[in-house]
Amino acid sequence: MSHLDDALEYFTHAARIMDVGSNIEKLLTTPVRQLKVEVALKMDDGRVEVFTGYRVQHNSARGPFKGGLRYHPQADDAEVNALASLMTWKTAVVGIPFGGGKGGVAVDPFQLSPGELERLTRRFVDQIHFVIGPSLDIPAPDVNTNSQTMAWIADQYGKYSGGFEPGVVTGKPIQINGSQGREEATGRGVAFCARWALEDLGLPVDGATVAIQGFGNVGSWAARTLGEWGVRLVQVGDHAAYLANPEGFDAEALAAHVAASPERSVKGFPGADASSAEELFAADVDVLIPAALGGVITEQVARSVRAKVMVEGANGPTVPAAHRLLVDKGVTVIPDILANAGGVTVSYFEWVQNTQRYYWEKEEVNQRLERILRKAWDRVMGLGSKHKLDPRTAAFILAIREVGTAASLRGI
Ligand code: NAD
Repeated sequence: MSHLDDALEYFTHAARIMDVGSNIEKLLTTPVRQLKVEVALKMDDGRVEVFTGYRVQHNSARGPFKGGLRYHPQADDAEVNALASLMTWKTAVVGIPFGGGKGGVAVDPFQLSPGELERLTRRFVDQIHFVIGPSLDIPAPDVNTNSQTMAWIADQYGKYSGGFEPGVVTGKPIQINGSQGREEATGRGVAFCARWALEDLGLPVDGATVAIQGFGNVGSWAARTLGEWGVRLVQVGDHAAYLANPEGFDAEALAAHVAASPERSVKGFPGADASSAEELFAADVDVLIPAALGGVITEQVARSVRAKVMVEGANGPTVPAAHRLLVDKGVTVIPDILANAGGVTVSYFEWVQNTQRYYWEKEEVNQRLERILRKAWDRVMGLGSKHKLDPRTAAFILAIREVGTAASLRGI
């Protein structure tokens, strides 16, 4: 099963409970536009390499397409399609006026020099500039892309649009019209969800334990925020190493270590025991946070999970059969379309600020973020408890209702 099959299965499960009808079902499962481009790049040594790039625009019934751009060797049609559809549901769950889209380039960015990475990004924009724009489709950072990538995209796009238009991307550096609080927003949102789930279960937050796979943007900010509330990070892992520390890692020091490491990894962090992915997922912790790639929580992994709460920092980390197993085991699973929606929420704030040319303080951003996520949390959990649905099914039902209504109102 591909990530696309997984995303479709979750959608279909909710759509059939709602009985939305085949017309709406067809409309909501078909992307509006799928662009595939070949990005030719002149390497530093004079060779030419060609990388495949994608931009999928899934649905814009509720507003402009919105979604990240990832650089990863495994980026392909099915993955980008699945991720684009998740963005449609995510923006609807948190009630921000965007649709869903996603992009990717099949490349290992760690094999490129900074100059090659910049040229690749600019060449990619050359090929997709006519389908993006502040009121059309607004990319953002995702796996292996960051604020620097967004700065290059905005600059290159400006060469086509007749001037620098900051609202064409979000997740930009603060100095070029980025928003306070955007970098940490997804991880903060993940942390809020972990806290609220523990509170709903009547478990203490201070002193709780967490295991996190992925210590990039999402994982590290989730760890740092949870750390502020006394939650101990006892297992952590990424593409290069898995580490354990029963006393709890210093998340700030670990983040500084990753930032300084050439591999951008937790590998080599002092004072930790060696661990493995199997040990991390099976750890006896209160909260488990997959915050790396999709499809990692398989049925086999789900069987081993001992956490009481799993918060999906990553997009699509859990395959449907594993999700059913976890729900049956009594694990509270907070789905990606709610759990990691903090990023797109502050992206929306960034876009609003760009439009107004008026910028907010970090406290204001953080307060507004918490308010929006809490409202979405209450709606999802309220619907779930009213109809005895797991949080993922409830979140999908809410989202499908919003997008379906918008599509019907606008007409085909
Ligand atoms: P990132 O590039 O900053 O970090 C990715 C992390 O995953 C790194 O720690 C990396 O080492 C790890 N990783 C990569 N391959 C791995 C592997 N094979 N095994 C174990 N670990 C591996 O990316 P990010 O922005 O933190 O995104 C992480 C996840 O969160 C992705 O699924 C992404 O789609 C999702 N997400 C990100 C945002 C955002 O705002 N950045 C928003 C919503 C969802």
